[in-house]
Amino acid sequence: MKDIGAKIGGARKDLASQRLARGLRKPKAPAVVIPEDAVMLGKRGWRARFYYVPYVTGFACYDIKRKDWEGKPRRVGHTSSGVVADVEALAAGSLINKSYRACRPRGSQIYYLSPKKSGGLEVDMENDRAFPSMNALRDFVANNRVLLIDELPVSLGESILTVDRYNPKVERVGQDWLQGRHAGSQDFLETLDMRGVEFGKCIRDHQNLLDQAYLALRDLAQVMQLPASFIGLSGELAISFGSRGHGGKAMASYFPSRAVFNLTKNSGAGAIAHEWAHALDHHIARAAGFANSDRDDQGVFLTNGVVTYASEHTGPDNFGKLALAVRSVMNVIRASKDYSKSARLMDRARSTKYWSTPRELFARAFEAFVEDELATYEGNNQFLVCGAHNEGFKDSVSKPYPVGDERRQINRAIRELLATIQTHLK
Ligand SMILES: [Zn+2]
Repeated sequence: MKDIGAKIGGARKDLASQRLARGLRKPKAPAVVIPEDAVMLGKRGWRARFYYVPYVTGFACYDIKRKDWEGKPRRVGHTSSGVVADVEALAAGSLINKSYRACRPRGSQIYYLSPKKSGGLEVDMENDRAFPSMNALRDFVANNRVLLIDELPVSLGESILTVDRYNPKVERVGQDWLQGRHAGSQDFLETLDMRGVEFGKCIRDHQNLLDQAYLALRDLAQVMQLPASFIGLSGELAISFGSRGHGGKAMASYFPSRAVFNLTKNSGAGAIAHEWAHALDHHIARAAGFANSDRDDQGVFLTNGVVTYASEHTGPDNFGKLALAVRSVMNVIRASKDYSKSARLMDRARSTKYWSTPRELFARAFEAFVEDELATYEGNNQFLVCGAHNEGFKDSVSKPYPVGDERRQINRAIRELLATIQTHLK
C-alpha cells in the first residue's frame, strides 16, 4: 500500500535508502569468542552474561559484557571450591558496585542499601535494607550477593503497558463509522484532518490496521465530544504503521520532531489514546508559543515544565486558555496521592524517570478517562485503549493508572479541558 498524504520523512526505509545511496554499511560488532568448554551461568537475566570454565583447581568466571585488553570477555575471578554457587556469588559480586549504593541519611547512624537505579529518589525505609554500621552492611552484602542481584528490579517502561493485555478476540462495540466499507486516504486526510499516513515495509495487514486505527480515532473523537476533524490537530498530526523505531519490544510511540505517532504491528494496538494524548500535549505547547518551530526536535511538551509559564494570552488565538486548562489537569494529578506516589515507586526500578514524568502521568490519566467514557457509551475498543484499570498489574503494589476518587477527580479535570477546547473551536 502506498503512503497517503504529505511525506513525513525520517522513517527507517527513507534512512536505509540514503545509507545505500552513500555506499555506507553499518559496521558490525566483532563476535564474542567463548571457549568450547565454557558453561553459561544461566539462560536469562544477569546470569546470561557470565560463563565459567574449569580452572587448574576449581572454576574461572568471565563476563561477556565486559572486555579485557585483548577484546575477550573479562575474567571476573576464580574459585577453588569447584561449587557453582560460589561462581554465581563471584559474578553477582562483580555487579554489586554498579547496582547498589550505601547511604546514610544526614545526622543518622543508620546505613541503607539502596538500588542505584532509584535515580536519586527518596529512600524507601520499608523496602531498603537498614544496618547499624557500615561493617554490618558490608557483611550482609558479602553473604547475600546473589540474592541482592536477583531481587534488583528489572527496568520497566512503556513497552509493558499494552503488550500482553491487548486481546484481539474482544470485539469492538461502538458506532459503525465505516458502514461496511474500508477506511481510505480521504477518511484520514479529510474526515480526521490528518497530515499523512505512512506504512513500513514489514507491515502486511495494511487494510485491517487502517480500518482499526480509523475506528479507534473516530471513537476517540466521540468520547471527547469533539468533531472528528479535531483528531488531526489542525492538519499537523501524521500516523505511521511500523515504519519507525526498531521492532522488538518497541511499541507505539509519538515522535515530536515530526508530529507523527507510530503504531507497530502487534503492540501498537491499545495505545492510540495514550499516544494521541502526547500529540495533544505537544500540539497545545506549540500553538501556545512555547516552541519556536512547528515541530521541534526537543519535543516541548506542555506538561513537562512549560505549563508553569502559561497565561491566558500566550500564543496566537489565545491558545493560552488551553494551556491553562492543561495546567489545571496537571494540578489535580500532582495533588493526587496514590497515583503520583505509585509512579514514583515504579520509577525506582529504572535508571531514568518514566512513570512519574508529567507527560506520562498525563497520557495515562487520559487513557483512563477514555476508557471510562467509552464505558458510559457501553462501548469497547481495545485498539483505542485497554487495560487502563490496571488489569496488567493485579499482583503489583504500584498501579500505573489512577483509581477510585482520584481517578474520578482527574477525569473531571480532563472533561473541563475538553470543554475548553470545544469553546475554543467555536
Ligand atoms: Zn507515553
